[in-house]
Amino acid sequence: MLEALRSVVQEVSTAPNLGAALTTTVDRVREVMATEVCSVYLLDEKRGRYVFRATRGLNQQVVGKVSLGLGEGLVGYVGERAEPVNVESVTEHPRNQYIAEIGEEAFHAFLGAPIIHQGQTLGVLVVQQRAKRRFDESEEAFLVTLSAQLAGLIAHAKATGHLSMSRRKVSRTFSGKPGAPGVAQGVAIVIYPSVDLSQVPFRKVRNVAREIDRFMVSVAETRAEITGIADSMADDLKEDTLGLFDAYLLMLDEGAIPKEVVQRIKQGQWAQGALKQTIEAHLSRFDLMADAYLRERANDLKELGNRLLSHLEKRNRRRLHFPKDSILIGDNLSLSDLASVPRERLKGIVCGRGSVNSHLAILAEALGVPTVMGVQDLPMPLIDGGDVIVDGFQGIIVTAPTATQRRQYVKLAEEELALNRDLESLAALPCRTPDGHRTRLWVNTGLFTDVAKSLDRGAEGVGLYRTEIHYMMSETFPTEEAQRQIYREHLQAFAPRPVTMRTLDIGGDKSLSYFPIREDNPFLGWRGIRVSLDHPEIFIAQIRAMLRASEGIDCYLRIMLPMVSSVTEVDMAKTLLEQCLREVEEEGAKIQRPDLGVMIEVPAAVFQADAILEKVDFLSVGSNDLVQYMLAVDRNNTQVSGLYQEFHPAVLHALKHVADAALRAEKGFGICGEMAGNPGAALLLMAMGYPVLSMNSPNLLLVKKVLTSFPLSEAKDLLARVLVLDSAEAVKQATDQALAEAGLQQLIRVRR
Ligand code: PEP
Ligand code: MG
Repeated sequence: MLEALRSVVQEVSTAPNLGAALTTTVDRVREVMATEVCSVYLLDEKRGRYVFRATRGLNQQVVGKVSLGLGEGLVGYVGERAEPVNVESVTEHPRNQYIAEIGEEAFHAFLGAPIIHQGQTLGVLVVQQRAKRRFDESEEAFLVTLSAQLAGLIAHAKATGHLSMSRRKVSRTFSGKPGAPGVAQGVAIVIYPSVDLSQVPFRKVRNVAREIDRFMVSVAETRAEITGIADSMADDLKEDTLGLFDAYLLMLDEGAIPKEVVQRIKQGQWAQGALKQTIEAHLSRFDLMADAYLRERANDLKELGNRLLSHLEKRNRRRLHFPKDSILIGDNLSLSDLASVPRERLKGIVCGRGSVNSHLAILAEALGVPTVMGVQDLPMPLIDGGDVIVDGFQGIIVTAPTATQRRQYVKLAEEELALNRDLESLAALPCRTPDGHRTRLWVNTGLFTDVAKSLDRGAEGVGLYRTEIHYMMSETFPTEEAQRQIYREHLQAFAPRPVTMRTLDIGGDKSLSYFPIREDNPFLGWRGIRVSLDHPEIFIAQIRAMLRASEGIDCYLRIMLPMVSSVTEVDMAKTLLEQCLREVEEEGAKIQRPDLGVMIEVPAAVFQADAILEKVDFLSVGSNDLVQYMLAVDRNNTQVSGLYQEFHPAVLHALKHVADAALRAEKGFGICGEMAGNPGAALLLMAMGYPVLSMNSPNLLLVKKVLTSFPLSEAKDLLARVLVLDSAEAVKQATDQALAEAGLQQLIRVRR
């Protein structure tokens, strides 16, 4: 059964479009299950009907023409119950309802399984037989398993099946998650990983002869590479294993793969795209093969394709031209992809993975670039170079927008602009509630471009300077001197305001190309302070750079440690800090001793807040990570992003616990996670006593508007009310209602 299941799924996955995927499904299921009928009904959400979309065994003439309402017939019944329905004789079932002309009267036995993708019913997969019989347990299990696996493929085919190169003009909407607020229109520029053939977009080429040369050079290089590997292994491998290399070389013969690629280039496709098409055409044939050995050869072909691609890319990594209204799109964009686009040309970002809490989204928000995360099923190769609208409020993107859609989005952008203009008048005012309570609003920074905007918006300090961004944009670990200069610019720009420099926080979703960390569970692995303590040479260079950067200027340096989970880590870091202080003083520098703080990002640190406070000058809650670790929800995983809840009661109680500990110890504390920039959450944090809220600068005036409109006494009442609620939804609702009653509802709309 497993083999049959795998072969059906594989075959469906290589179908070129939705229609072919459904036809393959019904053909293969009927064959594998030896039934007389197999049909697929797909839900048309707009009409609220299950449309008869493919069949083998019933009347093909009415495919696409007949349908059943949501609660109608056994198909509707399967959808309604969201579980399989297995009926021995349909004539005896009260929910049976024949569709005229479909020709199913002769079939008695019925088994239907819902096709459900990410909680949404897409349709129903049905098998039928003439004989009166109940499908047995293994048949039922097979259909359910198959339908669960097909759901993802059908969702993907549904999403992409309507687009083709020639139909790029058809407007389509794709849903993801809001990443950074705002709307933007522009030209899609797809970034794809250089060694992943499947992500290569289709692009036209003008100079065909040059493109062919370019490709043939990469063939020669790949050939030389393979011969080199085979030679170096000749003594260690058996003859038949070495034969594998000959197979690679045969595929590279001029009459084989290269011939087909060249033909496609001649039709106007660039070399990478032609290579992708050629390899994929061969792969789909391999997939159909029943023989496991031959199917395995598909991997060799893939490997060869990727090798050719990497030579093509290495030699001539297409220098992307970024038009003035670039919308950066990629399946798994990195911070360096983002940094590769000139800021003034970057109008929007769309990422296939991740969520609002991914670092990409956080940085995009800091830069004020509308962003949508976790857009699955986006046919990247087809939309490259086309027009798109990015709606970072709702988390949707529209490809090939119509004139009406464009007008709607221009209006939305204008409204956002008007709101921001209104808020600008608050920049110079202190953040004081109507009943006189003062909160400090600081900013999170990472790129120097954040600085000017932050100051314009009235930032009173930097609560989190993500130093790792500089590391991520370098090609090696930056030297102490290179770091000193950058840190000094930051300190000078904000002097005499406080600047909180976080020590290197890599790991998780932040990687350095020159220092790869490979782990199964990166968010529970070698992250933040753990890396720094294992590499004191890197940590010491960074601390020394921070200390020396502060020399001779009237600045206020604070150093902060990320991802601390025990007091031992604090002790170890303090010892290294003392060593650095001694060293730079011995070298003659006059340094003001910086404040030392710890980020509270791990539940263990919450419950050791008292002990940690005895050792440091301040605490700062990193709520982005704290929420993920408290709720066991990967902040980067689109699939579970709905469970990532900042208003979860457990999170609120943890935040209160930290505030109470810091207030008792009379030490400085604050919060620098994204929660601080959420107007509703900011109210609750102020009520808990957080004296400092540090956020991305685009949120600063919004939060100031809320805190200056809302008396502390009322915020405290609200906090008391929500602390006894038992769900995030209830807390969010109570907070939104309080904002609405204070006339601040438009702020709820523009922020998550
Ligand atoms: C946090 O975890 O809340 C935080 C501010 O750090 P980062 O988002 O960089 O992990
Ligand atoms: Mg963090």
